[in-house]
Amino acid sequence: MAITDPWVECFFVGALQMRCSVVTDRSTGDTVIIDGGSEPGRLIDWIDRFGGRGPDWSNGPSNLSEAEQQHIPERTVIALVNTHAHFDHSGHIPDLLEHYRVKWYLHEDDTYLQTLAQSSARRWGFDAPEPAVADEGLVPLTTMSFGALDFEVLHTPGHTLGGCCLNLLVDNGANHLFVGDTLFAGSVGRTDLPETGGDFEVLAASIHTQLWPLEGDTIVYPGHGPLTTIGHERRTNPFVGEGAGAGGTFGRGKYA
Ligand SMILES: [Zn+2]
Ligand SMILES: [Zn+2]
Repeated sequence: MAITDPWVECFFVGALQMRCSVVTDRSTGDTVIIDGGSEPGRLIDWIDRFGGRGPDWSNGPSNLSEAEQQHIPERTVIALVNTHAHFDHSGHIPDLLEHYRVKWYLHEDDTYLQTLAQSSARRWGFDAPEPAVADEGLVPLTTMSFGALDFEVLHTPGHTLGGCCLNLLVDNGANHLFVGDTLFAGSVGRTDLPETGGDFEVLAASIHTQLWPLEGDTIVYPGHGPLTTIGHERRTNPFVGEGAGAGGTFGRGKYA
C-alpha cells in the first residue's frame, strides 16, 4: 500500500553536510529517519516538538500550528534505516536509538564497515559514540513496510558493499528515492575509500541495473548535495548517464 503525499524533511548534518531525511505519513504520523548520522539532538528536538533549527528543506509544516491545521497527528518514529555505514551516515545512530528505542536497519554487507564508524570518525577528527549494531538487515528486491511507509529496497553496491537505495512508494505522484552516496546530481559516490569495498565498475553496474529502470520522474535524494531525478541523471550524468562512455568517463566521484 503506497501512501499519498509524503512529508519529507532534509537536514544537512555534521561537518560533511550529510543529508538526513525524515519521512512522515501525513495521515498516521508514522515516521522513518534515513541516515541519522549526526546532530541527533537537532533531529530529536525538531521531530518531537518542532524545536530548534529544523530542517534545511521540507515539503511540510514548519511549526506545530501548521501541522495541526493540516490534521497531521503527532509523529511516531517507527524505524531508523540506513543507506550505508559510512560514519557520516551512521556515527550517531546510537544516540537516536537510545531516544526512540526502535529497530535500526542496515544491509548485512555493511556490518564490518559499521564496526569502524567510531574509528573512522576519529581519523577525520570527529567524535562519535561506540558504533551501533543493526537490529535487522535490509532485504534487497523486497518492499519493506515501516508503519504506513513502504520502501522498495534496491541493493546498489559499489560505493560500499552493502549500499542500498530506498524507494518510497507514492500512489499519487513521483516516488522518492533515497540513494545515500550511490548517485549524486551530476556525480557518483567515491569508490576509493579504504576498507569499504568500493569499485567503480560495480557501482556503475548497480546504477545501470537497479536505478535506471525506475520511472524518470522519481525524485532522488542523494547523501550530499542537491536533489535530482532519475530521468535527469540517466540523460546527463557524466559518470554513468547515457553520454558516459563504457565504464564511465571518470573513475571516481566527488563525495564521501
Ligand atoms: Zn559514503
Ligand atoms: Zn556520505
